[in-house]
Amino acid sequence: MTKFKAFLVSENDDKSFQQNIVERDILDLPAGEVLIRVQYSSLNYKDALSASGNKGVTRQFPHTPGIDACGVVVECTNDDFQVGEQVLVTGFDLGMNTSGGFGQYIRVPSKWVIKLPENLNPTESMYLGTAGLTAGLCIDKLIQNGSKPEYGKVIVTGATGGVGTLAVMILAKLGYHVVAVSGKKHAHEFLYAIGAKEIISREDITDQSTRPLLKGAYAACVDTVGGNILATILKSMQYNGLVSICGLVQSPELHTSVFPFILRGVSLFGIDSSECAIDWRTDVWNKLAHAWKPNKLESVGKTISLEDLTQEIEKILKGEQIGRVVVTL
Ligand code: NDP
Repeated sequence: MTKFKAFLVSENDDKSFQQNIVERDILDLPAGEVLIRVQYSSLNYKDALSASGNKGVTRQFPHTPGIDACGVVVECTNDDFQVGEQVLVTGFDLGMNTSGGFGQYIRVPSKWVIKLPENLNPTESMYLGTAGLTAGLCIDKLIQNGSKPEYGKVIVTGATGGVGTLAVMILAKLGYHVVAVSGKKHAHEFLYAIGAKEIISREDITDQSTRPLLKGAYAACVDTVGGNILATILKSMQYNGLVSICGLVQSPELHTSVFPFILRGVSLFGIDSSECAIDWRTDVWNKLAHAWKPNKLESVGKTISLEDLTQEIEKILKGEQIGRVVVTL
């Protein structure tokens, strides 16, 4: 039996794209040392871009997206993993130009694979997924550079999104006073429940003036949106403020000046979860599984089937998702 079920995105002759659930053949998967029977995947913004034909994410179609996968090793051609071992893959090229976690099987290089950390079950690992790893890397970078809860407020943008939700939860667990930036008025109850102490709107943190600096209000930041919101946050950092950035849902552009950096000693850290070193990745996964593990992880989203993916992809593209979407395979 070499057939498996997968979500497949294909390009039409008129350059539009269609999404279907199809039967694929394991023999058609790319080369790699580890064949994994995927049990769960999750939906990230990048998956939605791939599923809608964004060539910056996926160059060639037909393609099965899914940058996250948790499952069981079925074959391993080197000594890195045992058959039956529970493992996790996030990022690298998975779901971009390598057939991804929205299919029941993946085949990948063993250096992309990590053992499922103790104290995380497969579903929990996908409630975290790339979003949780990215939030964790952003926070780890702040802490490595001296961030402490007592230094002041930390601001999180895109707070009801996947990365934002998990950043709020982890920071709250670590004792930070979290200010959540959200465009969703109807999600305030959700944000308070996951640990936000204050909620401000996107407009509240959008400065249209040409002032080089604003009142220093925040000691640290996890930004998932870029654009004017990030530019305003940079102007609003306290002295020695620390800013981790990972996303661009508002805009990839950043129009700023040197003043936050040279007059307030602000530091800006870029985070890339897909290619980050395996040692750092493993260390952060272990933190996510233990001291940083968000309380009631499975309450911050929903579990869906492959058949439900298309509607959830449309929602995430419109910025309407709240929390995390886990996919059962
Ligand atoms: P989501 O869609 O789950 O979350 C994004 C959130 O941003 C939305 O829920 C919304 O939250 C807010 N938002 C949406 N549109 C706008 C807008 N126009 N202006 C300001 N805020 C907006 O995405 P993810 O959390 O999965 O990803 C967030 C970003 O991080 C993406 O750009 C993604 O590509 C990037 N990313 C980067 C990674 C890396 O390694 N560098 C890894 C993972 C993600 P609200 O309504 O609460 O404001």
